[in-house]
Amino acid sequence: MQTRNLIAGRWTNIGSGGAIEVADPASGEVIARVPMCGASEALSALNCAFEFQPEWEATPITQRADVLRATAAMVVARKDSLARIITQECGKPLAEAASEVQYSADYFSSAAQEIQSLNEMDVALERPGVRGVVRHRAVGVCAAITPWNFPLAMLARKVAPALAAGCAQLAKPAEETPLSAFALAEILLECGLPPKCLHVLSGDAKVIATTWLMDGRVRKLSFTGSTETGRLLLRQCAQEIVRCSMELGGHAAFIVLQDADIELAVKGALQSKFRNAGQTCICPNRFLVHESIASEFAARVAIAAAQLKIAPGMESGCQIGPLIHDEAVEKVRAHVADALKRGGQLVCGGRTKIIPNRPDRFFEPTVIANCDPSMLCFTQETFGPVIPIMSVTSAKEAIEVANSSPFGLAGYVFGGSDAVTRSVAQQLQCGVIGVNEAAPSNARAPFGGVKFSGYGREGGAWGLMEYVTTQYLALRSLEK
Ligand code: NAP
Repeated sequence: MQTRNLIAGRWTNIGSGGAIEVADPASGEVIARVPMCGASEALSALNCAFEFQPEWEATPITQRADVLRATAAMVVARKDSLARIITQECGKPLAEAASEVQYSADYFSSAAQEIQSLNEMDVALERPGVRGVVRHRAVGVCAAITPWNFPLAMLARKVAPALAAGCAQLAKPAEETPLSAFALAEILLECGLPPKCLHVLSGDAKVIATTWLMDGRVRKLSFTGSTETGRLLLRQCAQEIVRCSMELGGHAAFIVLQDADIELAVKGALQSKFRNAGQTCICPNRFLVHESIASEFAARVAIAAAQLKIAPGMESGCQIGPLIHDEAVEKVRAHVADALKRGGQLVCGGRTKIIPNRPDRFFEPTVIANCDPSMLCFTQETFGPVIPIMSVTSAKEAIEVANSSPFGLAGYVFGGSDAVTRSVAQQLQCGVIGVNEAAPSNARAPFGGVKFSGYGREGGAWGLMEYVTTQYLALRSLEK
């Protein structure tokens, strides 16, 4: 397992701030020590990236695409070992970690394909003798800051399009989960990426980000994380007019209409809500179910949820792993207590499951009926395995409640009529919507939010466009 940083073309285990301990959330045991980098390391990474930027940008597109395709293949070939690293550092079930590895590989194949389809375009001008041409060029040195809940995929979806576009990349993974990032960097180098093109640093997030963003040579930041941190970074980016993509917090609504296929909706609720024990940005947080079926939906979700296997992520058959740390458990507890205090009815769960010799972080899948928008779980991201259900009288009411949130990342609509579900989906103020579909993300499709969930898109052609600037040439030829 790689535990060193990749800075200025070499692997190093020296951090000016000492070391960070990486712990397994399922056991609390320290599994690695990684460097605690600060301003000096951040600056040498930036100096090197800036110096190397023109060379990578001038590297033929086919050559860059070859590196990305080889990376996609090697990520898949190393699925087992990468999945184990993900599970060890972020706690999710091994099967989910394996899906994350595949999802990460898909970003590399997609970026390789998209960069080769990015063509120059002519603009029709009414100017005799002048030809208008629109082309794209690399935005410049890019910085990526990523969260712990998808430690491989969140980095892959930034690094792949950045490298495809011809940008040198600086990356700072979350403190809890740097190991997946180092493993990915190792693969990229093995697949022919010039080492000076990618720099991966663990360390003091604030110091590293400030060093990069206030310098003037970083031209783009792609951040995935909380809205609060996103705001801080946006303020810093304003100083040097750094271009940003912000993938921030979510608070998805899961709407079940009167004519929904309940079995499908129940299956969808389980799939979308309990992935990574509820710690994903597109997890539904507010279940808005038509009053005629709300009790049945709650009862059936509770029966299915009670059968899920709660265990350390490495254990065979695990479906719900630990929450990332003790603060996350406290937040979920507080949301459940608040909902019950305000009139919510506990249908199942509501507490942690004690597993001998393990930290108290395994929260039971929880269903709470009779919820309303005054509750904490309806106003904040719970980031845990809790399904709060509110009865609604109509699709109109569901849309109003869904859109009353300042967040707008994902949404879900389950119903029997294609015309109605599509109309409801189109009225939701969010960027990604599953219609009778619980897993809408795909590396070839645009992913991102609106309002407090941020802006910019990742995935497919849309993700690539975030790493290029559009250049317009008005060409008058003097040659005969
Ligand atoms: P977070 O606290 O904002 O941390 C995310 C990243 O930002 C980490 O690398 C963290 O570094 C860094 N960071 C923290 N404070 C910083 C600062 N002052 N300056 C610069 N960087 C800083 O978020 P999280 O708790 O890890 O992740 C969960 C959040 O991410 C949730 O809100 C979730 O919805 C959101 N998320 C969104 C998406 C999406 O695509 N929209 C996807 C996944 C997750 P350290 O770890 O070193 O502190």
